[in-house]
Amino acid sequence: MSIVNCYNGVVIIDFKGDLIDFFQSANRRHRNAQLCPSCGFGLDDFNATWRMGCSVCYDIFGPYVREALGTQTRHPVFEVPSVRNLDIGNFVVSSRVRLARNLETIPFRTRAEGAFDSVAETIVKRNREKHFASTHVSSLPVDMSHALFEQHLISQELLHNKKNGMIVSEPENRVVIMLGEEDHMRIQSIVSGYDLDGAFASVQKIASDIEKAHPVAKRPDFGYLTSCPTNLGSAMRASVMVFLPALTITGKISAIADKLSSRHLTVRGVYGEGSDFGGYMYQISNQGCHTMTTDEILAMVKAVTLQLVLLEKQTEAGLFKSEQDQIIDGVMRAWGLLTNAHMLTSAEAVENIAFLKLGSNLGILRFKNDNSKIIDDLFFIIQPRTLITQNNRASGTAERDKIRARMVREKLLQARI
Ligand SMILES: [Zn+2]
Repeated sequence: MSIVNCYNGVVIIDFKGDLIDFFQSANRRHRNAQLCPSCGFGLDDFNATWRMGCSVCYDIFGPYVREALGTQTRHPVFEVPSVRNLDIGNFVVSSRVRLARNLETIPFRTRAEGAFDSVAETIVKRNREKHFASTHVSSLPVDMSHALFEQHLISQELLHNKKNGMIVSEPENRVVIMLGEEDHMRIQSIVSGYDLDGAFASVQKIASDIEKAHPVAKRPDFGYLTSCPTNLGSAMRASVMVFLPALTITGKISAIADKLSSRHLTVRGVYGEGSDFGGYMYQISNQGCHTMTTDEILAMVKAVTLQLVLLEKQTEAGLFKSEQDQIIDGVMRAWGLLTNAHMLTSAEAVENIAFLKLGSNLGILRFKNDNSKIIDDLFFIIQPRTLITQNNRASGTAERDKIRARMVREKLLQARI
């Protein structure tokens, strides 16, 4: 076990023992290992897909999984630093928690029609006051499903599951349950700002409602069973979307992302590909935490988020001191462009809205009411498919660019003091 001390005292344990490597070596050592009697899955299938076939697979191949998990160490309990007067809402745009659950009785990757209707019914019935509704992916209008994807509310995999994929959600899409994804159920809650506890409370209630009415796959030694063994245990992913302009501009973010990767935390750009971190927006999330409880995962993500925000603020102050004129000029140019452009592409909008957010955080620009919310909302409404669903006329690219420019201009001019 090696302990890596990183970012002002946040302790992260190096991840020992990789399940995928372990299965590959098990496959070499046990060429004639038996097949799962329930779904016919074998070690070769695991190597081809990195997924288990069904809950019974864990009973058959449990010894390999147990041995692999045994090579991993328990993690320390992360202490969330107590930080007073930290304007965290300016940096953490949203918080999200997702739980994966599978039904005990059917294969993980079933495409049987109607497989999830009764689960959807349970969620709708037990949350009447929240007005949940269920929809089959096959009956969703294409533009609507792509808009949900753009807003990170549903996955690519679900989008393509026209056989039995379903979405259950409440009207404001703060809680969205995907049925028929890699796991049977992905229950997720997304809330604005920094509120991992609030997001967790919502998904935990729904998961518990489902578990009372349906046989959910779990084992005493593995916790909740998942299609991919790397999600076993609490089967929870907690993440925050965080705005880190100064760490991006100074180039520090790449080293941070590298250091956090493979240590149970992933940092990835929300906009743009590869090293092009458009919008200075990142998603920080846990991964591969078999031995951690839900509380420990939440504490880890919170601790790292707070440390990153502190580091961002420190870097931002230094940057503003050394490059004050350039930053003010950049912010005002972004304001000029966004409030005057006749046409605006989504890439251009993301880049300039991000600069405006930086200007707002530094007090260069002031808006009515809640500064951060006005600007954060703009990031979502400017995406192409989202625009289409909100504007019937936005059919062609040029028309969309015109509508985007008008919407951004109107919202900013109304909000500015
Ligand atoms: Zn099986």
